[in-house]
Amino acid sequence: MTTIYNFSAGPAVLPKEVLQQAAAEMLDWHGSGMSVMEMSHRGPEFMSILAAAQSDLRELLAVPDNYKILFLQGGGLGENAIVPMNLMGRKPQPATADFVHTGSWTGKSIKEAKKYGKVNIAASGEAGGYTCVPARDSWKLTPDAAYVHLCTNETIDGVEYQFAPDVASETGGAPIVADMSSHILSRVIDVSRYGVIFGGAQKNIGPAGLTIVIVREDLLGHALPICPSAFDWKIVADNDSMYNTPPTYAIYIAGLVFQWLKQQGGVAAMEQKNIAKSSLLYDYLDSTDFYENRVEKGSRSRMNVPFYLKDENLNAAFLAEAKANGLLQLKGHKSVGGMRASIYNAMPIEGVQALVSFMQDFAKRNS
Ligand code: PMP
Repeated sequence: MTTIYNFSAGPAVLPKEVLQQAAAEMLDWHGSGMSVMEMSHRGPEFMSILAAAQSDLRELLAVPDNYKILFLQGGGLGENAIVPMNLMGRKPQPATADFVHTGSWTGKSIKEAKKYGKVNIAASGEAGGYTCVPARDSWKLTPDAAYVHLCTNETIDGVEYQFAPDVASETGGAPIVADMSSHILSRVIDVSRYGVIFGGAQKNIGPAGLTIVIVREDLLGHALPICPSAFDWKIVADNDSMYNTPPTYAIYIAGLVFQWLKQQGGVAAMEQKNIAKSSLLYDYLDSTDFYENRVEKGSRSRMNVPFYLKDENLNAAFLAEAKANGLLQLKGHKSVGGMRASIYNAMPIEGVQALVSFMQDFAKRNS
């Protein structure tokens, strides 16, 4: 039987062990007689699931005590509005937020933030076709910015920050807000370098529907009056993510993924695996003229690897044959075309090996 490897950008592959455990617990969670989906979010069973998920995530990312971990709904795009509604109020109105425009997802964030305040594009990768993170010394920051927004991994363009920038001295202490939707938990980060970290769960954490927000406590309590209460981080934090009904089943699966990550050796061990997996693929791409990746080497994503066949007429055959070989969902995002291999934590190195050998074989047969 062909082994299946799923390269979807999200919703994406989950660890098999997690899905097996969830299946085993589907009808009766820990002898409670209930599925997790059927439990009151305020009952002791679900409260214990939530508390474990929060504390495991805190441990995995070494989140300092002065940060809250919030489990919300609304997704990454929801946060594009929720962030300015929570942070523009830090400064006299109209306030300005700075953005480093690295690709599709910051593009969307910029458009949305303009509804709530002024936007300054501090730097942009547009001229180069979004193939790099603009050098830190080229950023033109606002002296009293309400915050500085970065997308630290551009899922579509395959551009990832390989450094945690410092912006405080040029902005009067503005916090960095990082959209880490597609690489959270894939590499070791120093949470204290950021004011807010957010991400939809459906790539490297769990099912769609859960949005994670990690926010420094002094950034709570500045929401604009128009901010819906269910998205006012202070209200959510004061109610320990229980102001409204949280996405309970998604939190449960995320909790299982956090336990799985701990069993794998935590984020540092995952990072080593992710370096090995992504190097395997990039090394092959760099060794052949049949395919190409257009991102500058210092900005290449370890999670999302876009690549193009030099002869785009072969795209349909490539995808069909890949699928027949068990290599699923390799089609690039419609806005950029080509192919994309998303190789999140749950993708084993064997999946990348299988992809590379298929690509070698396809190239040999079609050269
Ligand atoms: N930010 C990034 C980096 C993403 O990859 C995505 C989804 N692909 C989003 C935001 C939007 O997330 P959602 O669909 O959950 O709103």
